[in-house]
Order: sequence, then structure tokens, then C-alpha cells
Amino acid sequence: MASDVRPEILVRAVEQAYNAVVITTADLDPPGPSIVYVNQAFRAMTGYTEEELLGATPRILQGPRTDREVMTRLRRQLAAGEDFTGTVINYRKDGTPYLVEWNITPVRDNSGTVAYYVSVQRDITARAEAEHFSQTLLNSLGEGVFGIDAEGRFTLVNPAALNLLGYEAEDELLGRNSHRLTHHTDAQGRPYPESSCPIYQVMHTAEPLEAWQDWFWRRDGSAFPVEVYATPLWRELGTVFGGVVVFRDISEQKRLEAELEHEAHHDRLTGLYNRRFFDELLEKAIRGTERSGEPLALMMLDIDHFKAVNDTHGHLVGDEILQTLSSVLRERLRESDTLARWGGEELMALLPATDQAGAYRLAENVREAVAARGWPGPGTITISLGVAEYRPGEAVKDFTKRVDDALYTAKENGRNRVVAAA
Ligand code: GH3
Ligand code: MG
Ligand code: MG
Repeated sequence: MASDVRPEILVRAVEQAYNAVVITTADLDPPGPSIVYVNQAFRAMTGYTEEELLGATPRILQGPRTDREVMTRLRRQLAAGEDFTGTVINYRKDGTPYLVEWNITPVRDNSGTVAYYVSVQRDITARAEAEHFSQTLLNSLGEGVFGIDAEGRFTLVNPAALNLLGYEAEDELLGRNSHRLTHHTDAQGRPYPESSCPIYQVMHTAEPLEAWQDWFWRRDGSAFPVEVYATPLWRELGTVFGGVVVFRDISEQKRLEAELEHEAHHDRLTGLYNRRFFDELLEKAIRGTERSGEPLALMMLDIDHFKAVNDTHGHLVGDEILQTLSSVLRERLRESDTLARWGGEELMALLPATDQAGAYRLAENVREAVAARGWPGPGTITISLGVAEYRPGEAVKDFTKRVDDALYTAKENGRNRVVAAA
């Protein structure tokens, strides 16, 4: 032995070591090895006294749930002169089970014959419980969770993530590049380079990513909106060896948001913009006109004698007429025009890049189309219209009042006509 340490110090070192140490004879034939030495940690772990253990077989630690296959492997490897490492359930003197991780090394005498086995053991019950807890947590989470290494390759995928991404088994993903598989293209269908992927950035900046909204791609080539959290692993050590990515499908949330936004801006009956939103768009359009100097016009219309239509044919027929009128108008407007339900049966159109003459021509065209076509209920209806072109510097309410006044004049002058504002 090359050490200068006195043998009795070595004995004390083993006796006081942190890990449990047990030495047995090397008899592999029945009744098998017997214990010749146990250190203090071993006695503490098993609950037996030295007297109870010396001369006994290590099998006294085994019990109903000790894995027989592991014990068979142990005997096979020792018989072959190999080291052994394994994990099984053992039992303390009081019968309580614990999970032990241990290895066994042959101790050879001067002639090279295996004289003893030395076994170093550790109770890993607490660690295994913590791992079991983490595993159960991952398996029961509704959120998708996956782990990636520093290169972005999948190291772990929980069942929810598999399900959300359209895969059946973790093996289909492990080791493959997560970005290229689930994140290769942006929501607009453009290529999404790994270098601009915020999840991948986490590995480089070691800064966590929170509530990032993006799209993930499923195995079948469809995409869905997600909210993503990504946390670097082990930045405390100064090196990032990977990351944990948590995500959830926010399709339903997105759909509700879009629905709410639509409802906030639209009229239910006609599907046109409501007055409140139209006011916003009008103010924006006026600011644009003030900058560009382009003309801007309003066209307002009201159904003639509509009350009588409702009274005679019923409110439902009136509703249907309003819906049809909305479509008739939309067909005649440009993509850039904005149509809103201004009041009960009054519609208002915002016409960018249109002067008074242009607005008048459009209004005449609409008036004629309405008068010429067939309608439910009365069969024919007519509308009156007012048009006005924006005057630079004019207040919004003055602009809308002028078009309203023009419409009023059209009614006064006998209906089914267009009047241009003064
Ligand atoms: P005028 O030619 O002067 O416009 O006569 P009018 O009867 O059309 O008078 P006014 O424009 O004041 O009429 C408003 C009527 O429009 C009252 C109501 O019966 C009808 N109306 C308003 N909103 C709705 C609606 O959502 N559905 C239906 N069916 N009718 C509506
Ligand atoms: Mg009317
Ligand atoms: Mg009216």
C-alpha cells in the first residue's frame, strides 16, 4: 500500500465514513456470504446492532418487495469477478422499507484471490421520493412541459406536451431539435431561424422567458397559438446546460379575445361597425386627411317611411331589410371605405380619397340600386341620402352635423333623393 496513513486510522476512517460500509466473506455457495464488518453509518441505516449483524447473511435486509432480478444480477456479476452497482428496496430491523443504492467490489488477498466483498451503500429514499413527486407532477400537469439541452434538443417531454404537439411517445422527440420540430415557421408562414427564437435565446442569455406568445407546429403540420415560459437550467453554476419550456394552448383564449373585440366594434344585427367604433375611425381618418390634404367624404342614409314598413310587415321583416340594405351598400363601397350603423335605420359611410362630387355619384348609384331591386315585405323601399366633404380644420361634430343636415333636407325635399351638404 502506498499510503503512509497508519492502518488503525484507516479503520477509523471507514468506521466514521458518511456512507454505509459492509464487508462480507466471499462465499458465493450456499449459505452465501456472511457479514464480517459493518460501519456506524450502516448500523444507523439498518437499525441493527453490530452483534446482530456480524456473522449474519446480508439477506436479512431483503424482503417481499426486494427486486429478485437485481439480486440475481448481483450474484452473476460477483461470480464473474465483476463490480456490481444496483438499487433495491431493503428493510430495516423494524420492518420499514428503504431504497438503497449500493455497489459491491471484490477485495483480493496477496495471491489475487477474492477474499471479501466490500459494499458501500446509501439510503436514497428521500431523493427517490422527490424524483417520484416531480415525475407525477409532470405527468399530471395540463401544461405542456419539455426539457431541452444547450443545443435545443428534447431531453424530456411530458404527456400534455406530447398530446398538444400531436405525438404519441416521448421517444419520437427525445434527442431531436425542438425548434426545428415545433417552431420552424412563424405565424405568417415565414421561416423562423433558430437564432431569432426567444426560447433558444434563453440558452445564451440565461434570462428566463415569460408569457411569450407565439405559435407551435404539430406533427401533422397544423399550428396553434401558445403562451410559453422558458427557464434556463443551472445558470447558478455559471453554465447553462439546457432549459425547461412550459407552454399552453391559447387557441380558446385567442378566439374569445377576437370575439370580444368583434362585439365591441360591431353591430349585432347588420354586422356593420357600431357608432362608437365608427367615431374612432372617423377621427383617425380626419387626422390623416389633415396631414395628407386628401379629400374625405361622409355619406349618410336613412330608410324612407320605415316605421310604416315595420308597422305593416312586422319588425322581423324590417330587420331583414336592414341586413339586406347593409349588403347592398357594402357591395358598392371600396375596400378602404368604412360602413357603420349610425342609428336605428341610419347608415353612415366614411369615404377616404373621395370629394363631394364623388360622394354624390356614389350616393345616387346606391339610391337607384335600392329603389330598383325587390325587397321582402313591401316589395320596394327607397332611401334618402346626404353627402358632405370634409373642410380642413373642421370639428368632427360639425362635419357629421353637415351630412345629417343634408340628409334632413333630402327628406324635406320629398325623400328618395341625395342632397350634398352646403
Ligand atoms: P322617414 O322617411 O322620415 O325616415 O320615416 P321613418 O318612418 O323611417 O322615420 P324614422 O327614420 O324616424 O324611423 C325610424 C324607424 O326605424 C323606427 C323603427 O320602427 C325603425 N327601426 C329602427 N331600428 C330598427 C331595427 O333595428 N329593426 C327594425 N325592424 N326597425 C327599426
Ligand atoms: Mg327613416
Ligand atoms: Mg331614422
